[in-house]
Amino acid sequence: MKRTSRDIRTANRYEVLRQIIAASPTSRQELAVATGLSLATVATLVGELLDLRMITEVGFEDSAGGRPRGLVAVDSAGGALIGVDIAETYVHVELFDLALNVLARAEEDVRPGESLPEQVVGHVAAAVGSVVAQAGVEAARVLGVGVSVPGQVDRDTGLSEYAPNWDWHDVPLLDLLAEHIAYPLYLDNPLRACAVAELWFGAARGHEDAVVVNLGTGVGAGLVLGGGLHRGVSNSAGEWGHTTLVLDGRLCHCGNHGCVETYVGAPGIMLNLRELSPRSPLLHPGDQTATIDALARGVQAGDPVAVKVVRDTARYLGAAVADLVNLLNPEVVVLSSWVASRLGEPLVLEVREAVARHALRRPLAATEIVLSPIPTDPVCLGAATFALEGALQSVGQRGPRRAAPAKGRTAPPS
Ligand SMILES: [Zn+2]
Repeated sequence: MKRTSRDIRTANRYEVLRQIIAASPTSRQELAVATGLSLATVATLVGELLDLRMITEVGFEDSAGGRPRGLVAVDSAGGALIGVDIAETYVHVELFDLALNVLARAEEDVRPGESLPEQVVGHVAAAVGSVVAQAGVEAARVLGVGVSVPGQVDRDTGLSEYAPNWDWHDVPLLDLLAEHIAYPLYLDNPLRACAVAELWFGAARGHEDAVVVNLGTGVGAGLVLGGGLHRGVSNSAGEWGHTTLVLDGRLCHCGNHGCVETYVGAPGIMLNLRELSPRSPLLHPGDQTATIDALARGVQAGDPVAVKVVRDTARYLGAAVADLVNLLNPEVVVLSSWVASRLGEPLVLEVREAVARHALRRPLAATEIVLSPIPTDPVCLGAATFALEGALQSVGQRGPRRAAPAKGRTAPPS
């Protein structure tokens, strides 16, 4: 695919805005240094962002002996962004200002068996309506909604191509959502969303090479390579959860045997527990969230079964993370998503020990393994940045790709 001059300009505009959000207030000179763009290019892009009212002039700073430098900062009231995290057991929605502070959040439980696209879309529409109402923002100020859904997605067509845990194939998710949601919609998956969130605000900030391991019901790796998000040729890089850990091992939803996910995803951890102690009171059959919570409490209380299950899980995870360390030589491996955050530091300690048993010494010495430091849902945050990227792309074009009128929306088009 050929990158046009418009693509490059859009990417540069996004990069300048990202730097301003990360370090407001800042000067054009600092932005030129941070982005590697010329001062003239930065001045032009800053002018465009000022015209869009996404940023404002906020005074001057002295520069040793030279002319005072004008400072710009993100205009947090310049627009609102919505991030949607669709997972197998919940839908989280957060509404952000332009500085990416959370203004409102809503959560819907997705019950076992509730996996039809229409059911999931209903949860998303209700939660989006709720955050807009809670925040009291005008519909016109919502620049877009970034939607993260597990599995393979086509960003251009808005199709969920394949979600193994729900057996979805080619579900036109954005078209279904557009029947209820009036704002421009942008689709991607949690691997990408987590990686961007860590790159902008978390443990990958300032790093060129990082891996964000997503531990939820599904498992995967978001890849930051050379300072940018790595998507692969068809936006499916990072499907590490479906690489083989055990030959002829457990059957996976994807149809193969022994995938990483079947040992370290929430259902896999439940199976680790069941194999160790079939009648354990920690086990809540059919309820991943309750079982992982019970294990987390058990580890805190020193319950030997809970400690052993987390250790067994970390042995699998450690071997698989060592593959990532040897393959990609990252500066940091971040453990993210709900299973990692609930099991917390006890899991990280065990994983560090297990990785050290499998990884080569040189890449291992260069790698830190940490828990995601982002206190809110990193997938919502990352999804909101996709909406921001999309909003910047649509500037000067005929309008957002998905603004066709539809019935039964949560907010009227303004
Ligand atoms: Zn698999």
